[in-house]
Amino acid sequence: MQKQQIKDVVIAGGGTAGWITAALLNKVLGKVVNITLVESDQIGTVGVGEASIPPILHLNAALGIPESEFIKATQATIKLGIEFENWRAPNHSYMHAFGDIGKDFPFCEFYHFWLRAKQQGSKTDFWDFSLNYQAAKQHKFTHLKQIPNTQLTGLNYAYHFDATLYGEFLKSLSTSRGVKRIEGKIAHVHQCEESGFVRALELDDGQSISGDLFIDCTGLNALLIEQTLNTGFEDWSHWLLCDSALAVQTKSANDPVPYTRSIAHDAGWQWQIPLQHRIGNGLVFSSRHMTDEQAKQQLLDNLPGEPITEPRVIRFKTGRRRKQWHKNVVAIGLSSGFLEPLESTSIHLIQTAAIRLIKLFPHNGIDANLVDTFNQQSQTELERIRDFIILHYKLTERTDSAFWRQCKQMSIPDTLQKKIDLFTVTGKIIREDDELFAEVAWQQVMIGQGLEADDFHPLANALNDEQLAELFTNLKTLIDGTVNQLPTHSEFLHRMKQ
Ligand SMILES: Cc1cc2nc3c(=O)[nH]c(=O)nc-3n(C[C@H](O)[C@H](O)[C@H](O)COP(=O)(O)OP(=O)(O)OC[C@H]3O[C@@H](n4cnc5c(N)ncnc54)[C@H](O)[C@@H]3O)c2cc1C
Repeated sequence: MQKQQIKDVVIAGGGTAGWITAALLNKVLGKVVNITLVESDQIGTVGVGEASIPPILHLNAALGIPESEFIKATQATIKLGIEFENWRAPNHSYMHAFGDIGKDFPFCEFYHFWLRAKQQGSKTDFWDFSLNYQAAKQHKFTHLKQIPNTQLTGLNYAYHFDATLYGEFLKSLSTSRGVKRIEGKIAHVHQCEESGFVRALELDDGQSISGDLFIDCTGLNALLIEQTLNTGFEDWSHWLLCDSALAVQTKSANDPVPYTRSIAHDAGWQWQIPLQHRIGNGLVFSSRHMTDEQAKQQLLDNLPGEPITEPRVIRFKTGRRRKQWHKNVVAIGLSSGFLEPLESTSIHLIQTAAIRLIKLFPHNGIDANLVDTFNQQSQTELERIRDFIILHYKLTERTDSAFWRQCKQMSIPDTLQKKIDLFTVTGKIIREDDELFAEVAWQQVMIGQGLEADDFHPLANALNDEQLAELFTNLKTLIDGTVNQLPTHSEFLHRMKQ
């Protein structure tokens, strides 16, 4: 690998990926590297990507963005979880709520106590013990780190926000802090003949932007990592059948709810992301099972309000770039691969890729070990999330369409099969390799989709029947009482905007 000090970093593309990366690099390394970002208004951004997961709070905190400013600037609302409707079966729903459920014991999660009670005939719902779920369904929210006078965690949350406004917000933040922005379409990418390293981007007005390290944030175009370096793509579309989306915005008819809705349909699912000023909607579907026209009709027939934009089709290919970092190009965002937005993980993956790059920053030149480490960590992270997303499809009980029958019958990655088998036999979920989703997230989707565990941890037998019943009653009383005291989500937003 070439050893050359890295002084000039060039980011190609100014979507959410480009501007998050620019803002974070500038915040941490702004004194030691020059950062230039090239974007093209003519090409524009993908314009979707409006639901997030809780670690976005750390991103905003690291960038020094006050929450109230963020909420005002991006028309954001609170997200306490994702409701999955019709996924297990028509008219069935469950939520992947953020935060803890019940009260974990040392070495043994609450889930095992719940399962023991269930096996003894209890009909108590798992989500009765989720503060996030109860608050979400009653449209309540305030900042609450802990349930008062207990050791139990309070509300864990993320945001829904307007992707375009967020991009503009990060752009003005980054440029005011020293990131150089250049407007123009990249027409040619110049490489070193010997090494193949990218040396400069030539714009269609003839301008040339040279650099030492290039970050490909050109979205699904993958201009540097694929079109230039031909890095290769690992296709996962045999596990995740959807390859298209239709996005449309509607007027809000009611106060925004503090959760995302994911509603399964015959050949995929529909999202509803409530913002302050509108609702973001989209239909994710498999073009092998539904035509664009059918998808459009399905979407228009099931909108929560009057459309304010024309539905537009977005095609994607699910999978990962074989190397997220190749030569002196690091792909971040849609250029690095694609997983459908079922669990709102793409923006998070931008955040972790930018952090990983900062941690492994090759200031003294690009080292093969460093690149391998980056690529290995990125691959593992993505594969674990992929498994979690496939889980929703694989565990369906639906047999009412060819799409769902195929999902139910398809073979799945070994890593996922192992997790399902372990859970089924022992009730246990082991979180591996720093994977994003915690045990409680897997438990909710597994239970929600109807997977039954045969056994539970022996520690769940440490309580006798009366103690177990008392634990459940106390927890439920505590959670209901706490939710009753909370202000509404709308009151919270109103307060933040003052
Ligand atoms: C249907 C759908 C729904 C999604 N929903 C969610 C969600 O709810 N939550 C979530 O976390 N993620 C979601 N995502 C993913 C999310 O949208 C992306 O991760 C995020 O927007 C980042 O996109 P990007 O910046 O990589 O690409 P883009 O937004 O496409 O930006 C690419 C940039 O590169 C520039 N560019 C491209 N080619 C050139 C060129 N030749 N010269 C100059 N500039 C160029 C463009 O102008 C643009 O600035 C969704 C994705 C899709 C497709």
